[in-house]
Amino acid sequence: MIIGVIREGGKENRVALLPEHIPSLLKKNVAVLIESDAGNSSCASNLEYAEAGAAIQTREHILQNADIILKINPPKEDEIPSGKILVSILNPLTNTSLVKKLAESGVTAFSLDMIPRSTRAQAVDILSSMATIAGYKAVLVAASKLPNFFPMFMSASGTIRPSRVLILGAGVAGLQSLATSRKLGAVVEVFDVRPAAKEEVISLGGKFIEVEGSRDDASAGGYAVEQTEDYKKKQGELIHKHAVQSNVIICTAQIPGKKAPVLISKTTVEKMKPGSVIIDMAAGSGGNCELTRKDETVIHNQVRIIGNSNFPSKMPLDASKMLGKNYTNFLDLMIDNEGNLNLDFGDEIVASTCITRNGEIINERVMEIISLEET
Ligand code: NAD
Repeated sequence: MIIGVIREGGKENRVALLPEHIPSLLKKNVAVLIESDAGNSSCASNLEYAEAGAAIQTREHILQNADIILKINPPKEDEIPSGKILVSILNPLTNTSLVKKLAESGVTAFSLDMIPRSTRAQAVDILSSMATIAGYKAVLVAASKLPNFFPMFMSASGTIRPSRVLILGAGVAGLQSLATSRKLGAVVEVFDVRPAAKEEVISLGGKFIEVEGSRDDASAGGYAVEQTEDYKKKQGELIHKHAVQSNVIICTAQIPGKKAPVLISKTTVEKMKPGSVIIDMAAGSGGNCELTRKDETVIHNQVRIIGNSNFPSKMPLDASKMLGKNYTNFLDLMIDNEGNLNLDFGDEIVASTCITRNGEIINERVMEIISLEET
């Protein structure tokens, strides 16, 4: 069995495996090929990979010879490994044209953003590991752009009041942002449609903003679902009230496979304090702020709106460390100790992450979306 890692390129600094992840694969009788310089922007050199036991190769060689290709971002046209296994993060619920191409190319594609959010799946949960990094980094970026201190200061030069941070969405990223903001001394408020989030917010020292009458759906697997118009109106008014008192807003609210809810209107931004910072981590799925532009910074009425959709790439060493562990744990589910492929579709994690196989799209959620698009 040969596993290949190709260089991500573009603005992506992470790599799917670091040298420290290679020995556990070699023990399984698996050879590892790394594209030359793939680890450079994650502080891992070709020499370190070679010392760990990997072979440095060209992209063409790897795409031709590896049985399994590991990638972080969805492959471009010339990176599709025809007839092979691909393990990546494909966003298949919105990236349906790529899914069709992968099926046509006979790729057995696994997308790690489709893992079930179960206790057993935590070891391969790339959504959680990357959201942890994004939530932390977002607060550091906000603090560095803010014209204020985060903590309260009492000195001979006067008293400085602590900054107020409003976090929208109390999932993994939101809770990490809450913890980081509290460590930096800010006063933090958090809003989420899921009432279950309240306890976690309070335990991390935040204040939970509650809107009565939210819709919950047990079949959504812990994720948020679309809310009623009446709820959205009440929610909009409450968020406006808290947003205009805040120095920083961290937006993380998302609904899988759907456009992110718009929670901060242009009118709200125009009423915010000059110098305030909005970090919109939902920028990749449309943004929680009406003025967000993906991967751009917009300054409106002296309010800075940062639409960074890939904070983990800004902390590439630890992001790759966590990702590599998630990827090797995932490979453990499909490769036995003698290095043979052993795909068990009775395993919930394997079954729910497999998107295409034998020239067909086999994931039910993706098929449903494609049939809706085609009608
Ligand atoms: P996510 O990235 O899908 O969304 C972020 C947050 O935004 C969620 O808390 C969601 O409720 C919230 N949100 C959506 N619409 C909103 C709106 N209109 N207004 C305010 N907030 C809104 O979330 P995530 O971090 O991927 O977590 C999703 C769920 O999975 C959570 O219930 C989390 O506890 C659970 N989870 C479980 C595991 C596990 O057991 N392995 C691991 C991670 C997360």
